Amino acid sequence: MIFSMTGRTHDLAAFTTLTYFIATQHVPHMSLGTAVTAFAANMIGGLMPDIDDATSDFWQKIPAGSFFGKVLHPLIGHHRMISHSFVGMAIAGYLVHLLLDAMHHVLLVDMTVVWWALMIGYASHLVMDFITKEGIPWFFPIPIRFGFPPFKFLRIRTGGPLEQFFIFPGLIAVNGYFIYVYYPVILMFVRGIGK
Ligand SMILES: [Zn+2]
Repeated sequence: MIFSMTGRTHDLAAFTTLTYFIATQHVPHMSLGTAVTAFAANMIGGLMPDIDDATSDFWQKIPAGSFFGKVLHPLIGHHRMISHSFVGMAIAGYLVHLLLDAMHHVLLVDMTVVWWALMIGYASHLVMDFITKEGIPWFFPIPIRFGFPPFKFLRIRTGGPLEQFFIFPGLIAVNGYFIYVYYPVILMFVRGIGK
């Protein structure tokens, strides 16, 4: 747990990135089903890179997850390895695409929107871990961890007070900013859902 940011920080980061996209990109109109599924997918994506941490929130949130987490752990490897890299993100994107493709006959939602929402969450997770002391191996299998800012002492410690009292409220503020500045766009988006 020491090496993971808390799940709620990642949830909020994923949501903030989603808000950014809704505010600034021309997000297509969608059904309520698509919006709800995309929202859930965004959260799942935001926790997904920690699939390699048996104790992470990702596994806690799915039924029997802690069991599967422990079983899969030796297969996926150590925490913050492949799943926290460009290669890992590409593989996850491909697998999720296959999964959504297989589901699209049972679940009548816009899978492209759902896929994007999930990947936006995934990317937000990597960016958040990037600013922590541990950094992440963007270019896995090259075993170098990168962090931002480049000097380790300037980065935040995961789960530490800075995350709790600065990053988390900071993300809320960023959300508030987007909603305030892009209020008409966001309102139009929300009103357009299901129409
Ligand atoms: Zn992580």
